[in-house]
Amino acid sequence: MMPLPAPRLCAVSVDLDEITNYFDIHGLPPPSGDLAHVVYQVALERLEAFAASQNIPLTLFVIASDLAHSKNSQILQRLASRGHELANHSFDHFYDLTRRSKEEMKAQVIDAAEAIERHTGVRPGGFRAPGYLITDELVDVLREAGVKYDSSVFPCPAYHAAKALAMGRIRFQGRESRSILDHPRTLRAPTRPYRLGRPFRCRGQGPVELPIQVTRGLRLPYIGTSLTLAGEKGALWLTRMVIGEPLVNLELHGIDWLDRFDGLSALEGHQPDIRISLDRKLLIFAGVIQRLRASGYAFVRLDEAAEAFGARG
Ligand SMILES: [Zn+2]
Repeated sequence: MMPLPAPRLCAVSVDLDEITNYFDIHGLPPPSGDLAHVVYQVALERLEAFAASQNIPLTLFVIASDLAHSKNSQILQRLASRGHELANHSFDHFYDLTRRSKEEMKAQVIDAAEAIERHTGVRPGGFRAPGYLITDELVDVLREAGVKYDSSVFPCPAYHAAKALAMGRIRFQGRESRSILDHPRTLRAPTRPYRLGRPFRCRGQGPVELPIQVTRGLRLPYIGTSLTLAGEKGALWLTRMVIGEPLVNLELHGIDWLDRFDGLSALEGHQPDIRISLDRKLLIFAGVIQRLRASGYAFVRLDEAAEAFGARG
């Protein structure tokens, strides 16, 4: 029998980290009032319009504690009814999830899946860990919880170095970041879909892992922040270095649909991407999607990608 031709699938996923999470990373006091819900109340509507204009399905990684706000649940119900996938981004988005007890990890995964189902009617099949950090213990929990796929491994030395630098700067300035660093061995994990082994950075028989996208060669980050910081031309240059990969797993964040005019001035000094205007970011993302589509990529949800690659073994 002829081997199946390699598919060209692209999945755009969006982690719905609320603004509070960014204030936490930078060790800033929590935001108050409407600002605390700006990702759900402002960014999601823009995101939905963008997905419709590009005719792409999205996978939305939901932090379950955000659903305590009933308006947020209604927004997600609407998005799910329009064909977008809801996936699990833990209950509280603890950056140190992997350092907590197994019972706590279990609660963060299972309680989140149940809460998302209770509030939206959708049982999430996929999981992404806060801060891209997983361990073998967390993989055990995912397996026990019946998670269909994971998308947390980010084998990206440049991201790791940038995060280490940023955390050093935050400590130097006398603040405390909630973020923690990954083990450098993860940086050598496979860059294409695989079944999680033990250790999780090796191939095995476990749940399907869909690694966050890096480029060929240098393994540069191919995520929302790196594309917008690279500018229009830079983003297309990075895109050339992922074209040909069987899956382009493009990870964005809700905050990518906001800019300084949405009340985020407190973050401006800490995150250079906040200074890029929303119009420019939309232009960059649209350009990348058009280039991928022109190169033969079909746009799918991550659960569909997991099924396609899981079936291929
Ligand atoms: Zn997150």
